[in-house]
Amino acid sequence: MSQRMPLVVGNWKMNLNHREATYFLQKLAWLLRDAHFDYKECEIAILPPFTSIRSVQVLVEADRLNINYGAQTVSVTAQGAFTGDVSADMLSSLGCKYVLVGHSERRRYYADDDANLVDQVRAVLTAGMTPILCVGEGYEERREGIELDYAVGQVDDITRDISEEDAQKMIIAYEPVWAIGTGLVATPQSAEDAAQAIRTHLTRVYSKETANKVRILYGGSVTASNATLLMNEARNMDGFLVGGASLEPEEFATIIRLAS
Ligand code: PGA
Repeated sequence: MSQRMPLVVGNWKMNLNHREATYFLQKLAWLLRDAHFDYKECEIAILPPFTSIRSVQVLVEADRLNINYGAQTVSVTAQGAFTGDVSADMLSSLGCKYVLVGHSERRRYYADDDANLVDQVRAVLTAGMTPILCVGEGYEERREGIELDYAVGQVDDITRDISEEDAQKMIIAYEPVWAIGTGLVATPQSAEDAAQAIRTHLTRVYSKETANKVRILYGGSVTASNATLLMNEARNMDGFLVGGASLEPEEFATIIRLAS
C-alpha cells in the first residue's frame, strides 16, 4: 500500500430509497464500530441516488459519522431551465464531497461524451467537490489486447483540458466495463497494469508529483472474497469503487476492513 490514503466508495446506482439509506448507514456505522474500525486507515464514501442524499447528510451530521458521500452524476449547468438536472452547487450544499463522472452506464445510456465530461469535472471542482473519473475498456478492446491504450486514452480525453492543479484534485476509477455487475473481476495483475499505465500517463502530461498524488481505484465486481487479493497484489491501486457489494452493510464493511 502506498502513502496515499485508501478509499472505498460505494456506488449504489438506482438503489436504496431514503429510508433504506438511513437503515443502511446506521447498520454500517454499527458494524464498523463493533469491529473497532480505525477511520484513520481508510476513507469511506457512499454515492446514493439524489433522493437519498439529504437523509444521509442528516444522519452523518447527527451521529458525526466519519463517512463521506456524494452523487453519481451532475449537471454541467449552474441553474435554469434544465428539467431533471441537479447542479454541482446543490450537491455541495448538501455536504457532498465526491461526484462520479463518466461511469460507463452514464456514457452508454445517457451518451455523456468527452466535452460534457470535461464540463462535469470543471463544475464539480468549481463547487469545491472531488470528481471521480471512471474509465475502462469494454470486452472488445480487451479481446483485441488494446485495453491499456483505451483506458489511458479515456483519461487523456479529459485531462488534456484540465490543468495540473485541478488534475491533482481528481480521483480516477479504472472499471473495465466487462467486469461491471458481471461477477467477472480483473486479475490483480491487469488492475495493476492499468493503474501503472494511468500513472505513467499522468507523469508524462503533468509530473511525477501529480502521478503520485492522484488516487486510482479499481471497480468491477469487487466483493468481500476478492478484495484482499486485489488490494495486496495491485499495489498501485488505492482502493475500490464498489457497486452491487456496497448494498449490503455486512459485505461493504468487510471490504472496507480489507482495504484498510
Ligand atoms: P459492480 O459495479 O461492483 O456491481 O460490478 C461497479 C460499478 O459500476 O461502479
